[in-house]
Amino acid sequence: MARYGIIVDLNRCTGCMTCVLACKQENLTRPTIWWNKIFTLENISFDHITYVRHACMHCDDPPCVAACPVNAITKQENGIVLIDQKKCISSGECIKACPYGVIALNPDRDYFPGEKMPYEKTADAYRIQLPKKASKCTLCIHRIAVGKEPICVSGCPSKAMTFGDLDDPESPIRAKLWRSVQLLASKGTNPKVSYIAPRNLLRPTERRIVEDPKMDIVR
Ligand code: SF4
Repeated sequence: MARYGIIVDLNRCTGCMTCVLACKQENLTRPTIWWNKIFTLENISFDHITYVRHACMHCDDPPCVAACPVNAITKQENGIVLIDQKKCISSGECIKACPYGVIALNPDRDYFPGEKMPYEKTADAYRIQLPKKASKCTLCIHRIAVGKEPICVSGCPSKAMTFGDLDDPESPIRAKLWRSVQLLASKGTNPKVSYIAPRNLLRPTERRIVEDPKMDIVR
């Protein structure tokens, strides 16, 4: 069985937000919900801005799974961590447990009140978006199931992300794995999303995630 992950190369991201909007469109998320975020870090030493793509890390040891009081969050055999919103009781425990700040409760309002929205029509248990339920990235499990990459990966014009099976020596992700680092590794979550980044940006990126993981354009 595969163990899927993503490597994000911060040297390549231009902050164009294509991944953010592609995710929104693909995954039918509700207003104010951004599974895939971009935030900016000023790199004072080099006098430029670095853009950080941030989403669920699909941890191998996910504290959100352990924290959920009704087992609404599960790690699949392929390593993808999913929330079943029909089981979710909105306890907020997963939000408190996730060190990366990537879970949010859906709002109960729609983009266009009175109109049936796409997230109300889907029949897929892991894509339906219910009011006030916990919501986060699914690694586009519905696309992986038909042999496609997550939409953020395939949509990125800079090819800043590499997706693949971390256990497959032939997978493109394996060739880059040695250059990548896990963020907040001290938390013991063993995230399957890792980053290639200038060394002096790793600590500021971790600090930003802990202190304020919101996306810049919706601050
Ligand atoms: Fe769970 Fe957060 Fe890890 Fe995603 S990043 S698997 S939501 S603990």
